[in-house]
Amino acid sequence: MSRFFSSKLASLTPYTPGEQPKDMQYIKLNTNESPFPPSAGVIEAVTDQGSRLQLYSDPECTAIRSALAKQYGLSTSQVIATNGSDEVLNFAFMAFCDDTHPIAFADITYGFYPVFAQLHRIPYQEIPLKEDFTLDYHDYCSLHKNIVIANPNAPTGLALPLWQIEEILRSNPDHVVIIDEAYVDFGAESAVSLLSKYDNLLVTGTFSKSRSLAGARLGFGFGSPALISDLHTIRYSTNPYNVNRMTEFAGVAALGEQAYYDANAQEIIRVRGEVKTALEHLGFTVLDSKTNFLFAKSDRIGGEELYLALKKRGVLIRHFSKSRIKDYNRITVGTQAQMEAFLAAVSQILTQKGSNL
Ligand SMILES: *Cc1c(COP(=O)(O)O)cnc(C)c1O
Repeated sequence: MSRFFSSKLASLTPYTPGEQPKDMQYIKLNTNESPFPPSAGVIEAVTDQGSRLQLYSDPECTAIRSALAKQYGLSTSQVIATNGSDEVLNFAFMAFCDDTHPIAFADITYGFYPVFAQLHRIPYQEIPLKEDFTLDYHDYCSLHKNIVIANPNAPTGLALPLWQIEEILRSNPDHVVIIDEAYVDFGAESAVSLLSKYDNLLVTGTFSKSRSLAGARLGFGFGSPALISDLHTIRYSTNPYNVNRMTEFAGVAALGEQAYYDANAQEIIRVRGEVKTALEHLGFTVLDSKTNFLFAKSDRIGGEELYLALKKRGVLIRHFSKSRIKDYNRITVGTQAQMEAFLAAVSQILTQKGSNL
């Protein structure tokens, strides 16, 4: 830290992204990227926009916002486009929370929420998930605080049914409820259908997971026109050109090729089921995932030990040191071939460990 760093931020612990090591070719199952490349139209759009990079991008993001509105049955005024969904989440914390408007979220959830709260000096309440990592929606009903829920949740992979989300929205009419749907395309129910009924709902989404565009950085938020307008105020006060033109038109092209991404999501769901069964046969406890990752632990090997042993064998998964989940690992569901290599490495590690006893 330099002697110039603001004392207000001295205690800030930044978010730790999953590692992206360059020392060798890993089978990367650690950051929930898609194992499938973007569709052909996306590559074409990026090339096309590349030759226009001397021009600023559209600060209104009209092309991607109207394409999203059309696809989700909304009006363009209900849509904001951002630099990844991390940015729309950051904007929402800035717009709707302050020292007298705190925010609540689960103790085990996306690690960026407490970082945004600390960054903006927003008081926050961490509500413990139940012993089995399920979220008891009663904990959030009539809470009278702003709320952010990842649904499905990360890193657990568990999803809440829509009626429970609706109860939370209905019982907190004077507070913003953010539903982070980064993983919704892998089998959960979206809250988008509730937008017409609840003006306190903000749904966030991303092109990073199911739409193979993590490196392009494209996210979005859906809400009432008034709520979205507040987010635009924050956007115009920080970075009006937050979405670059290659990314904007990559997003438009991806929406035009939705069938490709739907098929990929179906394949991930199929492989996820097979890997879950295989891990259970190896003695793992595996949570019921509605995402593109599995959250699993073994009584035969510690979470960190398995993570390190796999890394040595060229397979990267994600381990979190937080005490409640330190026995677990989060494993992104890749292609069938990647997952076969992963499972072979896991069996080998367990066998070697057994023979060393
Ligand atoms: C990956 C992820 C995001 C955001 O990802 P972006 O790449 O910034 O769009 C948001 N929420 C959760 C829970 C995630 O796992």
